[in-house]
Amino acid sequence: MNSIVDLFNVKYPIVQGGMIWCSGWELASAVSNAGGLGIIGSGSMYPEVLKDHIVKCKNATDKPFAVNLPMLYPDIDKHVQTIIELEVPIVFTSAGNPKIWTKHLQQHGIVVVHVVSSVKFALKAEAAGVDALVVEGFEAGGHNGRDETTTLCLIPMVVQQVNIPVLAAGGVGSGHSMLACMVLGADGVQMGSRFVASEESSAHIDFKNAVLKSQEGDTMLTLKEITPVRLIKNEFYARIEAKYNEGASIEELKSLLGRGRAKKGMFEGDLKEGELEIGQVSGTLNEIKPAGEIVEAVMQEFHLAREEIIAKNRFKI
Ligand code: NDP
Ligand code: NDP
Repeated sequence: MNSIVDLFNVKYPIVQGGMIWCSGWELASAVSNAGGLGIIGSGSMYPEVLKDHIVKCKNATDKPFAVNLPMLYPDIDKHVQTIIELEVPIVFTSAGNPKIWTKHLQQHGIVVVHVVSSVKFALKAEAAGVDALVVEGFEAGGHNGRDETTTLCLIPMVVQQVNIPVLAAGGVGSGHSMLACMVLGADGVQMGSRFVASEESSAHIDFKNAVLKSQEGDTMLTLKEITPVRLIKNEFYARIEAKYNEGASIEELKSLLGRGRAKKGMFEGDLKEGELEIGQVSGTLNEIKPAGEIVEAVMQEFHLAREEIIAKNRFKI
């Protein structure tokens, strides 16, 4: 038995990240139809757009799916109301205090999962009563923790201290890394980057191709003073770096960032001036596939990796 499969009522403990500008209803429904858990990333959606995506997702799948709700979102009350009215079964909250919405959502029968990047936040989320955690290491794309704890270190540290199911995230892009995380004590995984490189992801094709092109060392976690974010090192990143070298203030960094850079990069495909949020694992990705095939491939890799590790390591201790 697997606690994530039971909690979400899905076939596999594979969850797709609710990535802004990349995770609309097409991706979420494709992942859910394949037996994983698809997530609509509501952080980049105006309230009416989220409604539209939930309705379309429900028409496209009869399987459970979720909505990711970043606490930073300006119109969060409207998103919560929509989620309740349209009976979304599962919500992943992130980037904020889990105390604020957990009980309210659960009172409406919604399963609540919170995303954390440290042991401290994991304990806080468990105390707030969430049903499960996404524990995300330094390797992850987009918004991230400040402490730089890697997934390899963070998962066992959190698992030792909490009593709720844990999904590992950050650096997970294959059945091999899924197996590694589960050996460390995770109950399942959340993958973002690999699903960006899917046919159904709403990311711009130029961004998808930039993800495929990126190699080890091509992403960096930056802007810790504002909201830490891992992105591809493009021209915009070079300008951030130059600002740091000049000793720029937080205000100057904020003004350089401006508004809407994530949309510009990931949705409109401006590879020079946009924010290209992706994880380190992008260095391992080399093809765009249908999301359902990704889910199946990851499960096959997982089973194969499990057999291989046993076959290869028959030594005496
Ligand atoms: P639809 O086929 O209904 O609509 C696609 C829409 O996307 C078109 O209206 C088009 O606007 C718009 N669009 C395409 N490229 C861009 C771009 N580079 N910048 C701004 N808008 C663009 O798609 P869906 O049902 O999948 O989506 C419904 C709504 O959700 C749309 O408004 C879409 O933009 C939005 N969406 C938002 C996401 C997010 O993360 N916020 C993710 C996916 C979709 P036009 O007619 O003016 O060309
Ligand atoms: P910016 O402040 O730079 O820009 C806001 C963007 O969000 C614009 O592109 C805007 O679209 C879109 N948007 C959607 N709904 C609203 C709304 N109700 N009010 C204002 N803008 C809205 O933010 P970012 O692009 O960096 O991030 C957007 C959101 O995504 C943030 O609110 C944040 O909560 C969330 N986020 C969450 C992450 C996570 O949880 N891991 C990661 C990154 C961001 P338009 O251009 O069409 O006006």
